[in-house]
Amino acid sequence: MQKEIAMLDVHKIREDFPILKREVNGKPLVYFDNAATSQTPQVVIDTIVEYYSGYNANIHRGVHTLSQEATDAYEIARKKVQQHFNAKHSHEIILTSGTTHSINIVATGFTNLLSKGDEIIVSALEHHSNIVPWQMLCERTGAILRVIPMNEEGELVMNVYDDLLSHKTKLVFVNHISNALGTINPIEEIIEKAHHVGAAVLIDGAQSCPHIKPDVLALDVDFYVVSAHKLCGPTGVGMLYGKEEWLTKLPPYQGGGEMIDQVTFEKTTYAGLPHKFEAGTPNICGGIAFGAALDYMNSIGFDAIAEYENELLNYGTQKLLEIEGLKIYGTSKNKTSVISFNLKNIHPYDIGTIVDKLGIAVRTGHHCAQPIMDFYKIPGTIRASFSFYNTKEEIDALVEAVKKAKIMLS
Ligand SMILES: *Cc1c(COP(=O)(O)O)cnc(C)c1O
Repeated sequence: MQKEIAMLDVHKIREDFPILKREVNGKPLVYFDNAATSQTPQVVIDTIVEYYSGYNANIHRGVHTLSQEATDAYEIARKKVQQHFNAKHSHEIILTSGTTHSINIVATGFTNLLSKGDEIIVSALEHHSNIVPWQMLCERTGAILRVIPMNEEGELVMNVYDDLLSHKTKLVFVNHISNALGTINPIEEIIEKAHHVGAAVLIDGAQSCPHIKPDVLALDVDFYVVSAHKLCGPTGVGMLYGKEEWLTKLPPYQGGGEMIDQVTFEKTTYAGLPHKFEAGTPNICGGIAFGAALDYMNSIGFDAIAEYENELLNYGTQKLLEIEGLKIYGTSKNKTSVISFNLKNIHPYDIGTIVDKLGIAVRTGHHCAQPIMDFYKIPGTIRASFSFYNTKEEIDALVEAVKKAKIMLS
């Protein structure tokens, strides 16, 4: 039976985002750089203003009223994150500064759990923040990095993954959705097969969290990481979800206040979860606003978001392909609303510059995923990434701008 999906009223939604009213270079802003960071709705901005104008205080420390209000709001936000991602316990939710921080906690934590000759598997579709920390871990431990290759469509070659897995595999790290191409990776299969050989799995959800609502319990994933700024929240805050057994096993990442139980000069004992991984004063306001962003996204509904964004993806793909000489990279049937493309012989940067003059924000370059660009033997792409607050009219403006750039540059 087809699920009833509430229609999304994009014009009403756009009213929630004050930035969408501004002009750039005398033209209405068209914001198509959502895969780099999303825009912020008024309710999230209000949450930030209310925190600093109403109850700004340090948490978990004071008995005074403001401190208790801030602590309560912060812990409520943690519960919202827990519920959203369906974690079993709220202490399995570590609030970090974002995806990169979360990955580094895990990569550093595994230093003493790996031996020379152990193997770590990553995918060819990774963001640099999901490559470099593992390379550093390999340097520290003598473990070996293996890579699941990609194909022309921008999909992972899964039979090679089967061959790479063995009793030597200790960890597997894959992003849920590629930020450069939009490919949705088959993470259910990846997790199940990794567990079959006893390996732990970390899924980088930075690019999936704005589009889908992952269920970490159903996925049975060991670690799942996101950044709030990719889903309408502020920068500098994110989540490390880890199964309790793993978080208990990993050592703390940083020492400092908040993460201790008892401190003497002879011996310090660490606080329990989640505080063991939250040394120092956290991004209190950011954490609270992260919760507000999840509330906002859920009030629209992830089914409605996915359906509408898919419509934008299909429309944009069709319209852009009408431009002669335009090639799209990442053509998997399983993808989100990201279109990475190039125009014959024209450098992506030159097109990006002209398009910006017309008020349209796209990303140009390697998108922190140089191995993907090397695979296609290109310096980079132009990437237009659509969000639920974008419109077909904006896509028409992009198509016109690219046509104009083509005439000017050829
Ligand atoms: C944005 C992104 C990251 C990095 O997120 P930060 O917020 O910069 O830490 C990592 N992986 C993917 C897939 C991303 O899209």
